[in-house]
This record gives sequence, structure tokens and C-alpha cells, in this order.
Amino acid sequence: MTTEKSENLDALRREVRSWLRANLPKGWGTPEYKPPPSYSREQHEQGKEWTRKLYDAGYTGFGYPKEYGGIERPRAEIAVIREELGRTGTPGGPLSLGMLVAAPAILAHANEEQKKRYIPRILRGEESWCEGFSEPDAGSDLANVQTTAKRDGDEWVVNGQKCWTSMWEFADWSLLVAKTDLEAPRHRNMTYFVFSTDIPGFSRRPLRQMSGESEFGEMFFDDMRIPHENMIGEEGRGWYVAMTALMAERSGGGGFEGAGGALAGIGMEGLLDADSLVNLAKNTKHYGKSVWEDEAFRQRIVQIAIETQAMRWSGTRMAAKMRKGLPLGNEASVFKNFQAEMRQRRGDLTMEILGAYSQMVRGSSRAVSNGTWVYDMLRSRGATIEMGTSEINRNIIAERILGLPR
Ligand SMILES: Cc1cc2nc3c(=O)[nH]c(=O)nc-3n(C[C@H](O)[C@H](O)[C@H](O)COP(=O)(O)OP(=O)(O)OC[C@H]3O[C@@H](n4cnc5c(N)ncnc54)[C@H](O)[C@@H]3O)c2cc1C
Repeated sequence: MTTEKSENLDALRREVRSWLRANLPKGWGTPEYKPPPSYSREQHEQGKEWTRKLYDAGYTGFGYPKEYGGIERPRAEIAVIREELGRTGTPGGPLSLGMLVAAPAILAHANEEQKKRYIPRILRGEESWCEGFSEPDAGSDLANVQTTAKRDGDEWVVNGQKCWTSMWEFADWSLLVAKTDLEAPRHRNMTYFVFSTDIPGFSRRPLRQMSGESEFGEMFFDDMRIPHENMIGEEGRGWYVAMTALMAERSGGGGFEGAGGALAGIGMEGLLDADSLVNLAKNTKHYGKSVWEDEAFRQRIVQIAIETQAMRWSGTRMAAKMRKGLPLGNEASVFKNFQAEMRQRRGDLTMEILGAYSQMVRGSSRAVSNGTWVYDMLRSRGATIEMGTSEINRNIIAERILGLPR
């Protein structure tokens, strides 16, 4: 029996499909389509334009109040939209941590004026962001940041360095955690700021990683002056704002966009899609037989499909919590480790499916799917380090969820 509700959802599904057909870049999904090079200006601009299109169509911007540019839709509709975007695969958003990290922390801790200034521009893909947390001696031990910010009238004077800054190159804005009280104990000595990357005293340079790209870089502050109005939350409470940002990041944005929606927003929508893995197995042959015919491979692919679904529902659960106004807790660490480790298992499996073709990287005419599978596997190595390593998240799970002693 079909209910009115499911008919409406079917209609929405058809609407999204036809919108995607009309709006995806020309040739999308065909071997002829050549995506812009990773981490290039071209990819960034494509992501901005794609986010604006999605936003104008009402297909992104979920989980935020209307007054800050949020788009309100029932949860079931959001799920349909996300499923369709995941199924088709779409261009990613801009090279930015705005939706995943900046906006959730701003929503939770900023003042009214700041929320109205920053959030709508993030949701529409107009301004891109990076995250200045880690330093050479402050990675897992984030409370050890050595970058300082000293108050001088209506400004803060910042000196120091950040490293491993993802999406550093085209960021219009950055988050910043800096020590503002040299006497106060750890966790109470730092303050959270945002700054525009076109100000004097700021410079950045790339760090090259094993995938061949410079997804992340280093940022340097040399008497960089930030207006006081760019402080987010209270002075000395930066640790707590940073924790909100990190929880949102570890949840894959699940808390805000629903079902890992922000993963789609930042171009990781493939993670929500197990069908592409099935297609790869069907279209790849080992010794003349399709890989899909091999029971052992089929079982492992189905396992990934099950885990993908579990991840989707975990995201939905976090979204429900956020909608009730409850802060995300340590479950974000469970989600983060799960998605990062699954991403690596998925990467390893695809290499086995590809066999000798796993040696063909982007740029090679023989690379399958333009080398995307190989790239995903290489990039997945960083997944268990970024946003807090698997060890750190296991410590959190052990102490704060399981109640085990330190
Ligand atoms: C792809 C990628 C993107 C990143 N993007 C950003 C970004 O945008 N912004 C940003 O600020 N940072 C970013 N980072 C940095 C990331 O947050 C840090 O690399 C991470 O927190 C680990 O810090 P570290 O590299 O200094 O390693 P360390 O903290 O030196 O850790 C080294 C090893 O020791 C282990 N270890 C450390 N302490 C403990 C402990 N208490 N218990 C058990 N084991 C422990 C760790 O798990 C790790 O295996 C990124 C990193 C990667 C790989």
C-alpha cells in the first residue's frame, strides 16, 4: 500500500533525479568526463558553484535555523536528497572546512552578529575555510598550543605557526586556537578566533603528501592583528569551542546535515555509496571471470555495504540529537573511527579488485575511473590520523563511554 507520504517522497526523488540530470557538469558519470585536478583552483571554483546550485535548489544547508540561512525540510526528505546525491556521485563542495567544522562551532558559540555574518556564506559555498588547530608540538595534545594572541586595544596580536592545515590554499577564512593567558592552567588558557586570510602578518605554504597533492599546508603568523570582534565565545574558553568544532568534524557533519550529509558536501559522498563498489566488481575480470562472481569478494563487498548503512544511520542518530538541541557527545569518536577504518578496508578491497590496475594512478591512460579508486585508497591512510588519531579516539571511547580507568 502506498501512503501519501511515500508518494510525496517518490515525487521528490524524481524531482532530484531530473534536477541532477539538468545540472550536473556535462558528461558527468561517463568515461569522457574529466574532473578538474584535485586541489586546484578549478576544482575549488566548481565546488563553490555546485554548492550554490544545490543551495538554490533547496538540497543543502540543512540543520541550521532559517535566520542563519538554513533550509528546513523534514528528515525523510533530507534522506532522499542525500541518497540521490550519493547514488549519482556529484562534484564536491569548495575546498573548505566551512560546512564540516566552522559553521557548527559558530552556531554553538558565536554571538548573533557573528552567526548572521558567517553561517549563510558558508552554507551557500561563498566563503571557504580552514582549521588552524595543530602545531608541530600540538597534534594529539592540542592543549599544548604555543601560538600566542596578545590583546592590544581592540585587536589581538598573533604570533606562531600552525601545520597540517587542510584546505589551506583557497581558504578565505581560518579558525584559530591561540594561547591568550600564559599563566592559566591548560584548557583554560586559550581563546578561539576567526580571521580573514588576506590580512598582513599572515602567510602560508604547502606540505606535500603521499597522494602527490598538497591538500594541507602550514600557516605562519607574524604580528598578525585580528579585530577583537573576531573572537568566538569567551576569552579563555577556546578549548570548549575547539571541542565543538572537533566533535562536528568527527561526526562527519552528521549532527547537522543528517546521515553524513556534510561528507557529501565536501566531496566524500562516495563513502555513502556501496553501489559503485558492486559496479567495479561487475566490470572487472580476474582470469576471465567477473570479480562479482567470486563469492569471497561478494561477501566482503556486502560487508562494506552493511557498514555503509550502519554509518548512515549513526549519522541520522546524531542529526536527531542535534535537532533536539543536545550537544554531540563522545559518540562522534565512535563514528569517526568507524568511518576512517572502514574507508581503509574499502580502499584495500578495491585494490584487490583492481589487481594489477591498482598500480595505475591519476594521469595514466590505463587508470580505472581516472585513478579515483587508487587515490581514495592512498588518501584513506590519513583518515586515521586527521581529526584526532584512532588511538586518541579509542582513549576517549575507553574513558568516557566505557568508563575504563586512564
Ligand atoms: C590528512 C590530514 C589532515 C589534517 N588536517 C588538519 C587541519 O585541517 N587542521 C589541523 O589543525 N590539523 C590537521 N591535521 C593534523 C591532525 O589533527 C594531527 O596530525 C593529529 O591530531 C595527530 O597529531 P600529530 O600528527 O602531531 O601526531 P602525535 O600527536 O605526535 O601522535 C603520534 C602518534 O602517537 C599516538 N599518540 C599520541 N598521544 C597518544 C596518547 N595519549 N595515547 C595513545 N596514543 C597516542 C598517536 O595516535 C600517533 O599514532 C591533519 C592531519 C592529517 C593526516
